[in-house]
Amino acid sequence: MSQKIQAVRGMNDVLPSDAPAWQRLHAVAAEVFAAYGYAEIRLPVVERSELFKRAVGEVTDVVEKEMYSFEDRGGERLSLRPELTAGVVRAGIEHGLFFNRQQRLWCSGPVFRYERPQAGRYRQFHQLDVEAFGIATPDLDVEIIALAEALFRRLGVGGFRLQLNSLGTPAVRAAYRAKLVDYLRRFESSLDEDSRRRLSTNPLRVLDSKVPGTRAILEGAPQLPDHLDAPSRAHFETVQRGLSDLGIAYALNPRLVRGLDYYTHTVFEWTSTALGAQDAVCAGGRYDGLVEQLGGPPTPGIGFAIGVERLVLLMRAQEVPLPEAGPQVYFCRFGERADPAAAQLAETLRRRLPGLRLLLNAGGGALKTQLRRADASGARYALILGDDEAAAGRVQVKSLRGEGEPRSVAVSELPAQLAELLELPLLS
Ligand code: ATP
Ligand code: MG
Repeated sequence: MSQKIQAVRGMNDVLPSDAPAWQRLHAVAAEVFAAYGYAEIRLPVVERSELFKRAVGEVTDVVEKEMYSFEDRGGERLSLRPELTAGVVRAGIEHGLFFNRQQRLWCSGPVFRYERPQAGRYRQFHQLDVEAFGIATPDLDVEIIALAEALFRRLGVGGFRLQLNSLGTPAVRAAYRAKLVDYLRRFESSLDEDSRRRLSTNPLRVLDSKVPGTRAILEGAPQLPDHLDAPSRAHFETVQRGLSDLGIAYALNPRLVRGLDYYTHTVFEWTSTALGAQDAVCAGGRYDGLVEQLGGPPTPGIGFAIGVERLVLLMRAQEVPLPEAGPQVYFCRFGERADPAAAQLAETLRRRLPGLRLLLNAGGGALKTQLRRADASGARYALILGDDEAAAGRVQVKSLRGEGEPRSVAVSELPAQLAELLELPLLS
């Protein structure tokens, strides 16, 4: 045997046992997004590296340390996308989606970051992403937060904490940034190394530090919400009122800043203590300057991204009921005449009984072998067709879960009988 090749570190397979949770999440998400009037957009996994440098920011961890970048055979600098917002904005500009139009969009798929893999943190992970453009008013902030809440509720996961902050306008940020730097400089020698470096490159990011010594210093730091100008404050207060009107609980966190550079005004994050150290399951905020920064018309925007793996972990931990996925019926067949007859009958049953999950035996085998496969498949019923039955136009129906001998049923009666047993609709 030649040597095994393993998956790349931090990149996971989603095995069939996990797939139902993923399917459920995507089905519910698509339904909820449509219910709020959001349309799906599908984007390439690879973009020009330049896009992320300009959108996410050159002095962010994501761009500085975590991007998978390479030169293609034509010499283009490309990157695997580390997030979805930049691509949505790029596509929106390219296809003229932002000219005097409001857009409500969502997309999903894998994103890539070269991080240290651990529980809840991977190098390929998946995001569900929602973005809305062309509306600067706080009613949209409320809508988009309510949309995420609705998704969690419809999925049946709970126990989240929603944290909220406002970063104000770019001018507010700049003024606050100066005050923060003044304060932190006084403690420079006690800051951790990353924070010292960020002090000159991206000081707001220091607020995000998880290092205990730095956190202690931050206790006395000036707080962003105290420095908001009147319009930013009014915006933020309207968002809070709107959330309260909808009965959505939140906590203000003056230190909440997002890891990416383009945020303005409202920022938010849902965390769950059930996730351990990687506790953020959904994060987002307003980014009113981003479209223009990428060469589009001035267009306000707001959005969020959900970490799919983390949400699936919560679905499992909270034992969210999942729809059954395995076959309901296993069709055993043996004999020259029975084999093609069973294949035809299986097609007829699948067509006439929408929702039926029927597994047709393949690869031969004695009745005993086939019944063992039927049992292992988790099906509730086995259908058995041999040459004798085929000649007589009958099929045996055997319950695999519990009582009763196999019953012989006329082929013409079978669709109706199965529909009744499995509570499925029957088409003519
Ligand atoms: P974190 O603070 O956990 O690093 P982040 O601020 O980098 O998160 P975003 O860039 O806002 O995260 O991405 C949105 C969501 O994607 C996060 O809330 C999280 O659920 C998920 N996420 C981020 N990085 C990873 C990762 N490496 N592996 C799995 N999920 C991730
Ligand atoms: Mg991160």
